[in-house]
Amino acid sequence: MDWPQSTCYLNGDWLPLAEAKVSVLDRGFIFGDGIYEVVPVYYRRPFRLDSHLGRFERSTREIGLANPLDRAGWRSLVERLIATCSADDQFIYWQVTRGVAKRDFSFPADTPPTVFAMTTPFTRPSPAQRQQGLRAVTRTDERWLRCDIKSVSLLGAVLARQFATEHGADEAVQFRDGWLTEGSSSNVWVVRGGTVIAPPRDHLILEGIRYGFVGELCQRLGVPLEVRRLRRDEVEGADELMLTSATREILPVVALDGRPVGSGRPGPVYARLRAAYDEAIEALQRR
Ligand code: PMP
Repeated sequence: MDWPQSTCYLNGDWLPLAEAKVSVLDRGFIFGDGIYEVVPVYYRRPFRLDSHLGRFERSTREIGLANPLDRAGWRSLVERLIATCSADDQFIYWQVTRGVAKRDFSFPADTPPTVFAMTTPFTRPSPAQRQQGLRAVTRTDERWLRCDIKSVSLLGAVLARQFATEHGADEAVQFRDGWLTEGSSSNVWVVRGGTVIAPPRDHLILEGIRYGFVGELCQRLGVPLEVRRLRRDEVEGADELMLTSATREILPVVALDGRPVGSGRPGPVYARLRAAYDEAIEALQRR
């Protein structure tokens, strides 16, 4: 494994990850004032990079942060990062902050952003995880009201995930005013009567790149998909629950608050979506 000895990118330089340093006055450190992305790489090819770049552009725009690179610039940075790592499957992380400046809440003038990017070998969800599924606990969503922005200010997500960990679970399924939002770092999908149901893409959730992808897979498979708000009892009484994210791909949730979800085993809709997901990844190898 070539991590953490791996090479990373910081403000135009390529250097070992352990040697990369930023100022304590970086606004990412001081305020969490920045945007990030996580892009999975399969067979040395980034998966849905354009969608990630689109989401990144939107997030930077929403917080008035200048995007330091155009799409071609990001694509070539990603290609170079992939080349530094021997693993075929990787996940790329990058973040851009509002740079280094005197500590002042207002945006600093004429301050270049801090641009950091790294890659890590990616171990895809194991057969055991796919077959056994995940355990989740429910929690009140205590995050801010712009969860559509992929901000590096992740304290709310950290506290939610820690809550799950302390309760022996893999993820926290969050509710705001009684309505399902999402996991600490994943989108949540409910299956009822053969229909996949997902909360709407609004400011209360991050639009995962898997959110769009699973929507396409449902369409391809002829699985009905409904986008609407979901009450807590609809989630608790679901036939199946699933999570999606770049690193978890799509995984079933078999227990919620210690009670079985549906049969307590990964369900048939999950199995179909998982097979279609894997097929799409395998198609990358053949390209
Ligand atoms: N919601 C949140 C809060 C997340 O942190 C993530 C993971 N980045 C997701 C959803 C899933 O997004 P993606 O499919 O792009 O990984």
